[in-house]
Amino acid sequence: MASDARSILLVEDEKAIRDAVAAYLDREGYWVVGVGDGQSAVEEFEKHHFDLVILDLMLPKLSGERVCRAIRDKTSAVPIIMLTAKGEVEDRIIGFELGADDYIVKPFSPRELVARVRAMFRRAQRAEEPQVEVLDFGDLVIDISGHKILVEGKQVDLTASEFKLLATLARHPGRVYNRMELVEKVLGYDFEGYERTIDSHVKNLRAKLGDDPKNPKWLYTVHGVGYRFEAPAADDAKGTGASEG
Ligand code: CA
Repeated sequence: MASDARSILLVEDEKAIRDAVAAYLDREGYWVVGVGDGQSAVEEFEKHHFDLVILDLMLPKLSGERVCRAIRDKTSAVPIIMLTAKGEVEDRIIGFELGADDYIVKPFSPRELVARVRAMFRRAQRAEEPQVEVLDFGDLVIDISGHKILVEGKQVDLTASEFKLLATLARHPGRVYNRMELVEKVLGYDFEGYERTIDSHVKNLRAKLGDDPKNPKWLYTVHGVGYRFEAPAADDAKGTGASEG
């Protein structure tokens, strides 16, 4: 194996799928470790550094859900792509709630998966590029360069996708983004039908920010269109000036 190759942990119990996907990824120059059950996945993850995890949801020994949790307990940084069976809508939602960055529905073409993997690495690389940028909204501080956020002074961990989503919206307060734009900007590809994943990310983001969708402070739903970010009550704060409370 080339030591500078990106490493991928591939967790899939169906050998035919695992072998096909591994072959495609290998051809792309990635270093792939394939395992067939959840327990082995956790063990491999503890032994080696991986740059990305492809994780089937339905697995023997330990479910993909539990594996995802175990990985997220150790690090929030590694991108995770979940594999779910067709129609398991709730499972996709579960995947995002657990902190997966993307999902792909079976049956899928290995080509599409490879495209997702590439997009995921492009995003990770962009995130690593040095740039000093801090968006300060008072109770919410988004440190783009440090890839972290502070809510009321406390650091809150976001997944790569949640961070990208928040940063995208917050860079242009007041601008309405439709879901398809957000899919392209946040997930890095333009396949149709994945707009709903943005809703899941927004839901998670709101929970982490403590933002109430019925009475939002930052993230506003624009019905039938998408979302926008608002810098809260800057005018009020400046206008009164006299008291600080
Ligand atoms: Ca399976």
